[in-house]
Amino acid sequence: MLTEAMRKVTPQLVLLDAAAQPAGCTLPLFGLDAAALSARMAQAGEPAWRGRQLTEALYRQRLADLNEFTTLPKPLRQRLIAEGWQVGRPAVAQVFQSVDGTERYLIECGDAQTVETVWMPEGDDGDSGDEGDSANEAASSLAEGDSAHRRWKATLCVSSQIGCAVNCQFCLTAKLGLQRNLSAGEIAGQVVAVLARHAVEVGRDRVNLVFMGMGEPFLNYDSFMGAVRLLVTEVGLSPRRMTVSTSGIVPGIERFAAEPPEMRPRLALSLNAPNDSVREQLMPINRKWPIEAVLEAMRAVPMRPRERITFEYVLLAGVTDQPAHAREVARLARRSGLPVKVNLIAWNPGPGIDYTMPQPEAIESFRRTLIDEGIPAYLRKPRGRDIFAACGQLKRTVEG
Ligand code: SF4
Repeated sequence: MLTEAMRKVTPQLVLLDAAAQPAGCTLPLFGLDAAALSARMAQAGEPAWRGRQLTEALYRQRLADLNEFTTLPKPLRQRLIAEGWQVGRPAVAQVFQSVDGTERYLIECGDAQTVETVWMPEGDDGDSGDEGDSANEAASSLAEGDSAHRRWKATLCVSSQIGCAVNCQFCLTAKLGLQRNLSAGEIAGQVVAVLARHAVEVGRDRVNLVFMGMGEPFLNYDSFMGAVRLLVTEVGLSPRRMTVSTSGIVPGIERFAAEPPEMRPRLALSLNAPNDSVREQLMPINRKWPIEAVLEAMRAVPMRPRERITFEYVLLAGVTDQPAHAREVARLARRSGLPVKVNLIAWNPGPGIDYTMPQPEAIESFRRTLIDEGIPAYLRKPRGRDIFAACGQLKRTVEG
């Protein structure tokens, strides 16, 4: 069921050629790092530095067809193709465009399963108050750019699983259940496919990644961190511009705490409730790992200077948006002992989910209460609601 607000706009559906992911691709190169590519080249009787050329073509030039790898001699390209090697990068199969500039993609993986990725030009203010956020940066980094090239300021929301098993009651993705985990290449491939689509210049344009799409990253930990390593080492993105959100998977947080700082994204907790009893109703995972157990694990994550942990908080009318809830969240944040900021998200409606959007006055009152209690609080801009691209709305929906 579409709400009346959704009916007022007509999102545009664009069909693209999805042939960049060939059927029967048995030997995908995308997803292998420089060391693995060099080892493969050495096994094929080629000098190891050919691996560096492959890395450059895959991750910096973002080429999607082995025939375009012109730094390799043609006979070598032909031999690799004959042996069954393909680029094998996930391909953008469909694009849904919102009236607000947001784009939601169905991205096709090798087995014809699709996953969702969202591009939000100018971001959603989710990084407000973080190290190097918009408030701390020069205005010259904004999207207007210079005369030669438009400079992007955008946020890219990336999926880590197809579907999700965590079953948060307010989330449309939960309706899918868990279909399967994504590989490191499929997670990083979403990013590279979208960077290629928008001709993003890494190091010049300002693109933040949030691992907040479909799935729970810490229930697919090795692939998630494998993707982060590829994106940092081979693609050249900074982990300080990446945020991973967890529903509170304690063993995952414990592993995350041991990652080297130069490879670790920022951490967010999808909190969504002021206490265990409300959270248990909204997020059944809370019965396994209650709030205090999650906070205890988070305290072991070494923070970088000026880094904060984000509490993501979905406001549901009458359920989590009351002034008493705000005061309780503030107490919880103080009790945690963590450098915390709170990102408020007005719940986005989805078909078959029986909650109500909060009123604007309730949202502002909640935010103001947190600030008055000394807790930095920001309101995430709702993006792409008309195309089911907003938080908690990703479900491979093809209706417009
Ligand atoms: S909110 Fe996140 S963790 Fe919860 S069901 Fe949805 S995708 Fe899974």
